[in-house]
Amino acid sequence: MNTQLELALNEPAALPPPEAYDRTVIAFSGGKDSLACVLWAIKAGCPNIELWHHDIDGREGSNLMDWPVTRSYCKAVADALELPIYFSWLEGGFEREMLREEQRKAPTWFEIPDGLQSTGGQSGKLGTRRKFPQVSGNLAVRWCSAYLKIDVCAIAITNQERFNHSKTLILSGERAEESPQRAKYEAFEPDRTDNRDGRSRRYVDRYRPIHHWCTAEVWSLIEEFCINPHPAYQLGWGRLSCMSCIFGSANQWASIRKIAPAHFERIAQYEERFNTTIQRTMSVRQLAERGTPYPEANNPELVALALNDKYEQPVIVSEWKPPAGAYGESNGPN
Ligand code: SF4
Repeated sequence: MNTQLELALNEPAALPPPEAYDRTVIAFSGGKDSLACVLWAIKAGCPNIELWHHDIDGREGSNLMDWPVTRSYCKAVADALELPIYFSWLEGGFEREMLREEQRKAPTWFEIPDGLQSTGGQSGKLGTRRKFPQVSGNLAVRWCSAYLKIDVCAIAITNQERFNHSKTLILSGERAEESPQRAKYEAFEPDRTDNRDGRSRRYVDRYRPIHHWCTAEVWSLIEEFCINPHPAYQLGWGRLSCMSCIFGSANQWASIRKIAPAHFERIAQYEERFNTTIQRTMSVRQLAERGTPYPEANNPELVALALNDKYEQPVIVSEWKPPAGAYGESNGPN
């Protein structure tokens, strides 16, 4: 089957013509779905592709939540595909926001084509959190997704002149199969940063090219490009989110306790300090007791790969095979 026809068969009705845009921004977490978006964009001939990765832990020294290797893996993938990548983050990341006590929101930082920019000082009202985000589809209480990803992306767009008087297509990898909430997302809609009729004439659409895809279709595209998946999949995780994602299953908490006991202990101690557990009915200690570590958590080489802040495997492999977690538990943001 030729590529164009194959792509057409995989499209929902509302496919925008990619050539109508000046650039394509792809929200790239390093996970399989956002990677599939990148590969889809390459096949579809999207113009001026740039990858955007939001650092959950920020760049100020915290490493509470994310896989240590994620940032380096994202950069390695971008380099292998010869695409630019820009990182952005809320200063202090997840941990600073969680520990807010009568403080304002920290500045947001974002890389731009010729450097680094920030929103300046702290902003908003004085506020106190001192607890983990709630495990909920409601982003008002699941503040990590809103504050550390969605807002960071929007701020980076609205604060760069280069997006004004031009057309931008944002691609993101939410899929209907992931949750009833995500099934309701539109495949194509104006982005929240769109201002096409305003003074800035900032025209921004959002497209979810794999919204209707099943997991097998995602892996199939990754196999076609022979891309080595993020080490978390190789360790048995079925979905790439933060290593200590609040949606973690019992098996995932048991796996984290096994491969990164000091890291696990910090999370557990925060739950005790706040007197509020991440999941309503059980602490991470109780969850870990109930779970069973993934078998690959016994593989020291894989563990070292995931916990290293430098990605040390090839991005493009000669022999591709599905990782252990390809169809495993897919707990993660919904
Ligand atoms: S991956 Fe999980 S913990 Fe991380 S920002 Fe998303 S919902 Fe929050």
